[in-house]
Order: sequence, then structure tokens, then C-alpha cells
Amino acid sequence: MTLKYDVIVVGAGPAGSMAAKHASDKGSRVLLVERKNEVGVPSHCAGFLMRRAENHVNLNDEIVADKIYGFKCYDPDGNNAVARSRNHIGYTIRREALDKYLASQAINSGVDLMIGATAVGARRVSGRVKVNITHLNEEISVDAKIIIGADGVESNVAKWFGLEKPSDLTPCAQFDAVTKSPEVSRDLIEMYIGHRWTPKGFGWIFPRGGDVVKVGIGVKGGKKPAVSFLKDFINLHPVVSKKLAQAKFIRLSGGIVPLGGPVERTVDNNVILTGTAAGLINPVSGGGNDYAVICGGLAGDTAGEAVEKGDFSRRFLCRYEDSWKSIFGKELRYGYLGRIVLQNMPDRLYRKFISTLQGEEGIVEMLVNYDVERLLHLVAEKSPMLSSFIKGARRFSRLLT
Ligand SMILES: Cc1cc2nc3c(=O)[nH]c(=O)nc-3n(C[C@H](O)[C@H](O)[C@H](O)COP(=O)(O)OP(=O)(O)OC[C@H]3O[C@@H](n4cnc5c(N)ncnc54)[C@H](O)[C@@H]3O)c2cc1C
Repeated sequence: MTLKYDVIVVGAGPAGSMAAKHASDKGSRVLLVERKNEVGVPSHCAGFLMRRAENHVNLNDEIVADKIYGFKCYDPDGNNAVARSRNHIGYTIRREALDKYLASQAINSGVDLMIGATAVGARRVSGRVKVNITHLNEEISVDAKIIIGADGVESNVAKWFGLEKPSDLTPCAQFDAVTKSPEVSRDLIEMYIGHRWTPKGFGWIFPRGGDVVKVGIGVKGGKKPAVSFLKDFINLHPVVSKKLAQAKFIRLSGGIVPLGGPVERTVDNNVILTGTAAGLINPVSGGGNDYAVICGGLAGDTAGEAVEKGDFSRRFLCRYEDSWKSIFGKELRYGYLGRIVLQNMPDRLYRKFISTLQGEEGIVEMLVNYDVERLLHLVAEKSPMLSSFIKGARRFSRLLT
């Protein structure tokens, strides 16, 4: 069986559903394929969403778990710096609900959604794309003008069309835990750094509504699996072990976060990459939900316009790349510098780093705006030791000199 569409989107995560909806809103015939049997399930995400996404999604009560007002950052010994805002800076969300909501919005806009449908191959044929899908033990061929790869970290779409895949892969492990502990922040994101607990990575505790929290880690170094580091983080970390001493663990999940920044090219003839498939994740925080929602929409807009104009060339599709770069290019470049700084900083400098942030005005705005440049400038001004370390990291950063 061969189906004909203007646009095929691979992956019904937030990036794919947004892309599909936006392309359909421009009048394109759109097919959205998702290999899972249920959109959004299982979810691997810790669920923090920056407030800037709320202009693009109607965040209803089913999606929002908690409002977040700032950050609490811990050094390896458990000392912390708090950056709190008067207004909320984001949300913790139920990702399953977000994914389902966005997919239903796409369907309401006229998108055909196929679940349990895995794209298994794709190629360019005479200025169009042919995509092979396996759906309920049936082989389907789809003929389309544009393919949007929103297929996450392992992006096969990128591979099939010779584009770079996301880099700096960081394995993560996470528990959903139930705890009534008053020590756990219910309106702040808690972040933990220190190679002893999370080599070349970070740990987190996020409130998830009611008594539920998500406790997780991402690690790049170390000689054991992420889940073993997670167990030590929970049982031995001087702060986390006390906070979660009475906690009951109800779900284990995991995934891979690429922290290498956006891939070199996010478009080619007939092809667009978006969301994690394009490496659109902030290298400092590992957060990508906001980029997925916003850049997914931009990808769909450009695909829709390309169909209207009958031009599927890389040159035309570059409009998408130009638009996401004009919004996020700088913060993602500096984010990569921030990652180089953080993952190479020895534990003794982490202590200095956190202590220079303590009581500083304006930190929360810097973090919310991903203004790594200002943040590094501030800590460098306060500590000659950090200053010379940051200068060294700058030289190593591949994106900034
Ligand atoms: C442990 C962990 C915690 C995280 N926590 C946060 C957080 O708190 N805040 C934040 O902002 N970000 C977080 N992230 C990152 C966030 O999950 C991603 O930025 C976000 O999911 C990107 O959405 P996406 O639509 O690009 O990709 P995904 O959500 O990964 O969706 C890709 C979809 O494509 C489907 N797919 C893949 N291949 C195929 C195929 N061949 N055929 C059909 N379908 C296919 C997959 O099944 C999947 O549904 C976290 C990531 C991890 C791993």
C-alpha cells in the first residue's frame, strides 16, 4: 500500500506533534507516525518546562503538576545557593499529558496520526521522499514532499539522509518517589553537581505535584551504569539521603540526553530535523521541552510554506534553521561553553562556584534566560581561581573561541 502526503512527521513527541499541527494549519496534508502504541507512554522526562513555552501551548491543569519559582543548586558537600523569583519561572508538567494534548491538537487541525507505526527507512526519489513504515505487521510506503525528523536522540531520519546525529550522549536514570519530607522543595527545582555523585553530569529533585518527586541523575564519566550512580546518590549523598530517607520509589525510568548542542545542519533537500533529533537541548540544563515545542512549531511552519510554494530545496528550508538560530542560537552556543566549564570543573571549584552565587541578586534571571555569558562573567569577577579555569574552558569550547 502506498499513501500520499505533503509532509510526513516521524515521532509524536512534543516537537513532532507541534510540527505536524503547524504544517497542517498552513494547508498541508500531514501524516504523523509514532512507534509507541500510546502517545507519551512511557515518558522518560523529569518534566520541567520553562515558562516561555506557555505562549505556544495551553498549559491546562491536566498538564501542570507544580508551578516553579526558582532553583536551589547544591555543591558536592551539600552547601547550596537559592535563586528565587517573585513570579513563577516555569512548571513541572506531566509529560504524558502534554504529549497527548499536543497530538490531539494536531489531529484537530487535520493531521492523520498513526500509532504503533515505525518508520524503518527513507530515501529521496525524484525530488520527493519515500518512507517505509511498519504498522501492525503491515509494510506501508509513504510518498511525501517533505519529511520532518522529530524522532528523538537516536534520529534515524538524520542517519537515512546523511545528517549529523546529536552528540555528547549522557545516560540518565530517574525514580518517581513518594515523600512527605518537608526538606524537599515543592516550588523550586533542585540541582546537584559534583563528580563524586554525578561524574561530568548533574543530579536533580523536581516536585511532581502532591507528594511525588522525580529524583534523577545524568552521568557521562564513571565506570558503572547510571542507575548505580542513582542508587548511591539517593543512599549516600549528604543531603539527598536525608531528604529521601523515608521515600517510597514507585517507578524507574531512564533515557539519553545529548548535551553537545544543535547538530551542524538541521535541514537538507526535502528534510527537516527538529527537537532532540536536531540536538535542540540546552547543554547546561539538559532541558529541551521548550525547544521542542517552539522549534517544532517553526519546523511545521516552514514545511507548510514550502508546500505552498512548491519548493522543498535545502535553500528554502533554511528559513527554519535561520528562525530557530535567531531565537536560540546564542543561548545554545553559550550553553555549550557552560557545559564544558561544568563538566571539567573539579569538585573543589564547584564549592567555590556555588558559594559565589550565594545571595547574589539577578541569578534567577540569568538562569531563566540561559544567560551563561553573564553568569560566567559574574563568577569570574568574584574568584580569580574560577576566572582562570573559565578562560581555559573557553579555549577548549569547540563553538566559541
Ligand atoms: C531522563 C531525562 C529527563 C529529562 N528531563 C527534562 C526536563 O525536565 N525538562 C526538559 O525541558 N527536558 C527534559 N529532557 C529532555 C526532553 O525529554 C526532550 O527535550 C524532549 O522529549 C524532546 O522532545 P522531542 O519531541 O524532540 O523528542 P521525544 O520526546 O524523544 O520524542 C521522539 C518520539 O519519536 C518516536 N520515534 C523515534 N523513532 C521513531 C521511528 N523510527 N518511527 C516512529 N516513531 C519514532 C519516539 O517513540 C518518541 O515518541 C529530559 C530527557 C531525559 C532523557
